[in-house]
Amino acid sequence: MSILVINSGSSSLKIKIFSDIDTPAIVHGNLEKIGEEHSALHCQFAQNKIDKQITCADHREGLEQFFTVLKDNNALVDITAIGHRVVHGGEDFSQPVKIDDNVIATIEKNIPLAPLHNPANLKGIEATMYMFPDVPQVAVFDTAFHQSVPEHAYRYAVPESFYKEQKIRSYGFHGSSHQYVSKEAARILQKPTEQTNLITLHLGNGASVAAIKNGKSIDTSMGMTPLEGLIMGTRCGDIDPGVLLFLLQKYSHDELDKILNKKSGLLGLCGSNDMRDIEAQNTEQSRLTIKMVVHRIQKYIGSFYAQLPELDAVVFTAGIGENSKLIRKLCCENLAHLGIELCDEKNNNVTCGEIQSSQSKVKILVIPTNEEMEIARQTYTLINV
Ligand code: AMP
Repeated sequence: MSILVINSGSSSLKIKIFSDIDTPAIVHGNLEKIGEEHSALHCQFAQNKIDKQITCADHREGLEQFFTVLKDNNALVDITAIGHRVVHGGEDFSQPVKIDDNVIATIEKNIPLAPLHNPANLKGIEATMYMFPDVPQVAVFDTAFHQSVPEHAYRYAVPESFYKEQKIRSYGFHGSSHQYVSKEAARILQKPTEQTNLITLHLGNGASVAAIKNGKSIDTSMGMTPLEGLIMGTRCGDIDPGVLLFLLQKYSHDELDKILNKKSGLLGLCGSNDMRDIEAQNTEQSRLTIKMVVHRIQKYIGSFYAQLPELDAVVFTAGIGENSKLIRKLCCENLAHLGIELCDEKNNNVTCGEIQSSQSKVKILVIPTNEEMEIARQTYTLINV
């Protein structure tokens, strides 16, 4: 058996092929700049690597060329199912689903909630449905894992009709990552997932925190859009809505959208969206930026801790969480009174596993995320029931 996982972005495609659901992908592929004059296709196989420039007008052409490369390398045999990452399932999906016309129509219905992502995800689905009409295809939603968040946590205090008529509420994202690392954490802690209480910190270019009670998400930092919450690579995270009203007097809606999503966060503060650069800068401004990032993370640790009956572990994952010893150290600083205490030596040496001190009541874990493996697992489980 093989499970093909497709993550289709607005101008890019990422694919992975898993030969089973518990071992790393056997093929990693990446196609960037779809629709531009030259698109870059990279494919990593067990024995060889292919990098080439291609021309493709759209996602279907891109996937066709991808699949030609996969076929030429005997990687496209025995595809049992295809799992698609879909960003926004709105309130319609709390589980992965087999894709049919109704599911496609419902993903389309949710386009207003994710105008950039859902159309791109649909392009990938449509292209593979056309090319593999007989292979079952499954949609796995970024929002689904957070559908267990209770209403008092996901609602905004705006007029009631905004929720009833326009579905304005918090949805949360990075669900496959939070779900993957919470299951891995339970495995490391040797507890059943449904008895595990965690705070999971997905700290990448996009960043979010989730409070996990008995294996289920009960709160998360991202909101109706991925703009809320932590300070990210280029997104501002939490901000007084009054600031937006103030800025709207000067900037158009589109300009403000770009400022908050693409020009803020680390980039806006320090001129780079890469934490490695910011750590290396070591200037007054970069030190302030790091303090702001850590302050926001600690604010969420405190507020999510207060919602949990007890805390088994704080989990660090994604690019910054997995790699930045400095950010992990600063995030855990001065939290000993909450039972969270880091061991410097472990923090400096461990790439996956426990990094807390021997006195720490709460475990601190570094767990590399694997959203695609989670999608492959959910796809496999669904088609085998
Ligand atoms: P992701 O979105 O999960 O791929 O994370 C990407 C981000 O991780 C990059 O933009 C960097 O800011 C950050 N990152 C990766 N490696 C390191 C590192 N060694 N130290 C600090 N940050 C890192």
